[in-house]
Amino acid sequence: MTLAQALAAAQALGLARLDAQLLLLLALERGPQERAWLLAHDTDPLPPERQQRFEQLLQRRAGGEPLAYLSGTKEFFGLPLRVDARVLDPRPDTETLVEWALELLAPLPGASVVDLGTGSGAIALALKHARPELRVTAVDASADALAVARANAERLDLPVTFLQGSWLSPVAGRHQLIVSNPPYVTDDDPHLAALAHEPLQALASGPDGLRDIREIIAQAPAHLLPGGWLLLEQGWDQAAAVRALLAGAGFVQVQSRMDLAGIARCSGGQWPGLG
Ligand code: GLN
Repeated sequence: MTLAQALAAAQALGLARLDAQLLLLLALERGPQERAWLLAHDTDPLPPERQQRFEQLLQRRAGGEPLAYLSGTKEFFGLPLRVDARVLDPRPDTETLVEWALELLAPLPGASVVDLGTGSGAIALALKHARPELRVTAVDASADALAVARANAERLDLPVTFLQGSWLSPVAGRHQLIVSNPPYVTDDDPHLAALAHEPLQALASGPDGLRDIREIIAQAPAHLLPGGWLLLEQGWDQAAAVRALLAGAGFVQVQSRMDLAGIARCSGGQWPGLG
């Protein structure tokens, strides 16, 4: 079997062309940036042991495992993160939240920032990488997730303070920015079946999906400096509800931001004060 035939067979099984290419590169122990190599070598034979490895990967992918868990890596905001089933697979949607945070932080050298529910460390590490002088704290309730995030911080040489606990409970003091991609899917969302390989704890948040967002909004004012901001990712249909919660808690300048797909993907507000 040639490489081209292996790719065609995978696509016949229903795999997207890009997924099939990336899994074949993985089976060949080549990097995801080598797709051009794959095209140039499409008449090369696929050795039997590689073919076996490719078939195993195809089966796992067909069973719903995120590509990121199969390859063990995911690029987020240009950073190569190591990820596995202990953490949510970082989504490109969340880069919208990072961009918003960086805009707010632009005039604030050395600002203190907290990332709640850091998972793989994606948001915290993206901020620290973009702005090395920021003081970044990353929190997660899961010791497993913190182990993944810590390993990413060490490997990427991005010093971040890690704390274990529920939302702001392990955090001391007041900060200029609190940012979070919390769980926000409703407990009975049929969409969860397709995400069964990811930690449920990182996805589901009560009957309306807002349990954790409510908790964070309730806790944030005691940990924000006057004029500080709280930015939250939320579900595609939750922006109005989250803005109402923020306004109800006393936040001002309450607004939402769209992701690349045009979905109101995150909402935030400023804690009143210096302005
Ligand atoms: N955006 C993810 C999804 O719906 C959910 C991530 C989250 O709950 N924070 O697939």
